[in-house]
Amino acid sequence: MTTNKTDHLYLHVPFCRTICYYCDFCHRVYRKDIAEKWLERVKEEIQENCEGHYETVYLGGGTPTCLTCEELDCLLSYLDPFTKGASEYTSEANPESLDEEKIHIFKKHGVNRISLGIQSSDEKLLKIMNRHHSFDDVRNTVELLKKNGLTNISGDLMYSLPFQTMDILKKTLDDVLSLDLPHLSIYSLTLEENSVFAKKGYTPLEEDMEADMYEYITERLKKEGYIHYEVSNFAKEGYESKHNLGYWRYDDFLGISMGAASKIGNLRFTNTAGFEKYFHAEDIREEVTELTKEDEMFENVMMSLRTLEGLDLKTFEERYGVSFEEHYQEAIRKHSKDLVFEKGRVRARDLALLHPLLIDFLED
Ligand code: SF4
Repeated sequence: MTTNKTDHLYLHVPFCRTICYYCDFCHRVYRKDIAEKWLERVKEEIQENCEGHYETVYLGGGTPTCLTCEELDCLLSYLDPFTKGASEYTSEANPESLDEEKIHIFKKHGVNRISLGIQSSDEKLLKIMNRHHSFDDVRNTVELLKKNGLTNISGDLMYSLPFQTMDILKKTLDDVLSLDLPHLSIYSLTLEENSVFAKKGYTPLEEDMEADMYEYITERLKKEGYIHYEVSNFAKEGYESKHNLGYWRYDDFLGISMGAASKIGNLRFTNTAGFEKYFHAEDIREEVTELTKEDEMFENVMMSLRTLEGLDLKTFEERYGVSFEEHYQEAIRKHSKDLVFEKGRVRARDLALLHPLLIDFLED
């Protein structure tokens, strides 16, 4: 059996208090009896699969903070043997379900970074999305986190939402910037097939408007001192997400719990997203894919070019036994103006124009 040892650990908490209308992640509305069963199962999975020490840990979901204090404490204690001294230990949180007691539990177990769901400061949009918090709740939560010494906070925002105008977006950025957060992730709406938005027949904004919003966001945040270090991510210097950089650098990672994906060498696993199978099946891995070297090389390029730091050429050659320049001669020639080679790395000149560039790497 192959080892599961990786530097990065992800754990998926499959519950939310309510379901946002744009979302179809693997989750269900929190129910105590199911959460208790899930905790038992996840404990086994952690004990069977986690190995050694993880450099970065990420609790996502779902909403980890919709667990009760007791459940959250249990979950983090199962992880303790593997997370001690992690350089970055993040938990996602929503403003309406994070209180001071949960902050103390996070701190007790070494969580040192919070990714907070904000999405928008516009009350009408929050309602349309079925978000159950106001921007005042966000402000209060950020104050509470900072008061308790958890200052490494990332805010999650969305744009290209139905009924969102440029003025609404600008006001949201003004509001969010007033919180003085060191990291922001800003994603455009993707209409997920099983989301309530899709069922209601909502459509994203026109492509031109979406592009204008993206341009406004990137320019505005750069002016405010954020580094645009990945297509959708912005950080003050030193606050780039180490865990996500692991994904973009194409490091291996282990995913625990329902719907979580893992990458170990050339193998990909995705755990079942169904509760019954998760609770009872012996083998919970549903999709196991063995990637060819060609697939791996392209995935590596695709992930790394999303970032400002780009792809490390020496690491690429060491991993695949062929140089990037040699393997992708055609695509490089075609996009010589769109790529920047410097200091042993290659990166995209403009992260907004990544898509057409990657299509040519896929075909090369
Ligand atoms: S966006 Fe987050 S809080 Fe909302 S339903 Fe999806 S996982 Fe739950």
